[in-house]
This record gives sequence, C-alpha cells and structure tokens, in this order.
Amino acid sequence: MTHTLMTLPFDENALEPYISSETMQYHHGKHHAGYVNKLNTLIKDTEFAEMELDEIIKKSSGGIFNNASQVYNHNFYFKGMSSKKSTPSKTLVEAIERDFASMEKFKDLFLQAAANLFGSGWVWLSINKEEKLIIESRSNADNPILDDHIPLLTCDVWEHAYYIDYRNARAEYLEKWWELVNWDFVSENFVNPHYLVFPCDDYSGACEFKEEK
Ligand code: MN
Repeated sequence: MTHTLMTLPFDENALEPYISSETMQYHHGKHHAGYVNKLNTLIKDTEFAEMELDEIIKKSSGGIFNNASQVYNHNFYFKGMSSKKSTPSKTLVEAIERDFASMEKFKDLFLQAAANLFGSGWVWLSINKEEKLIIESRSNADNPILDDHIPLLTCDVWEHAYYIDYRNARAEYLEKWWELVNWDFVSENFVNPHYLVFPCDDYSGACEFKEEK
C-alpha cells in the first residue's frame, strides 16, 4: 500500500498568529510530506510494503521505523490542534485530576517535560498498561505504541516545529501551543482509543463528540 500525506484538519493559516502559515507550509508540506515519501520509497518490495502504519512501527527499525513513526507522530500532532476553543471532557478531567492532581498541575508537568526534552522529540499524554495517564518524553521518532501505551495527545518539540515563529524560544512556543490543543480530539481518544488515528484521513477536526461534557 502507498501511504499518503494526511490532509490538514484546518486551513494553513488557521492557527495564526500562534503558528504561522509559513511554519505549516514547511512542517506539513515539506517535513511531514518528506517522511511519507521516504517511507514509501523505503518499504517498496520489502516485507513492510503492505502493512498498516502501526504495524510497520512495531516491527521495523532504522530508517523505515524512523519515517513510519514520524508520519504517525505528525498525524497525531496536527489532529491534536485546532483554532476552535475546546475543553476536555468530564471523564478526561477526572482522570487527569486522579493522576496529576489538577489540570493546572498537569499543564505545568506537560510543558516542563516538553521544555526539558533534550534535542529533538515528542512529549505525549498516554495511557499506560496499568490504565494510568502518564506524560512521556520520547526522543527523535520514538513512539508510545512500542510499549503498548495508548496515545492521547502529543507535542512536537523538534526545532522545525517552532523555529520560524519562535526561533530558540521553545517555552514560548509551548505556551501558545497549549492554547491550540484540540481537547475534543484528546477526549475522543480517551474513550475511543486509536479510533481517530487509523486511517488518518477519517478525522476532519470537527469530530462528532460522543460523550457528554
Ligand atoms: Mn515535526
């Protein structure tokens, strides 16, 4: 199968002024597209050629793993943002309060983890095998599904995510990114794991939210 570049769930300029259309043009149009194209080239005529993205991530290594996981991670990142204000569902708030004490504390811990991640990588909110919410810092293309965690939200802290708009001010990017989090997406992942991730184009960003808020 040929992997395709996900359509953005919003207009290129929808996240301005926090994330510029120039950043989106490079981040989605060059970086994300580059991972998709490289993946397609690398898996041609290999055992991975017909696998779904998550299966490739779990079974491959090296360049194939890096590109497959980066496709997945960017799908997740872009779906996790919206220009529309949203709030987490009641059940998600309850789980966050159970595992991080409060929403404020969770925000602090998440953004601290993202600010402190050394080099390139991703910070995730995931559910671990004990069904606890955890914040995970993962370098480069690393992915929570390798440990059978269920990802709910991710923030890209590779420099290409923020350098055009924020230069070296990662913390400032993180504060603004927080304002863009699509809590409908996160809340939906919480009650319906993986539903919105595969296949990646099924989610337009305007999901019908199934749960009472
Ligand atoms: Mn990126």
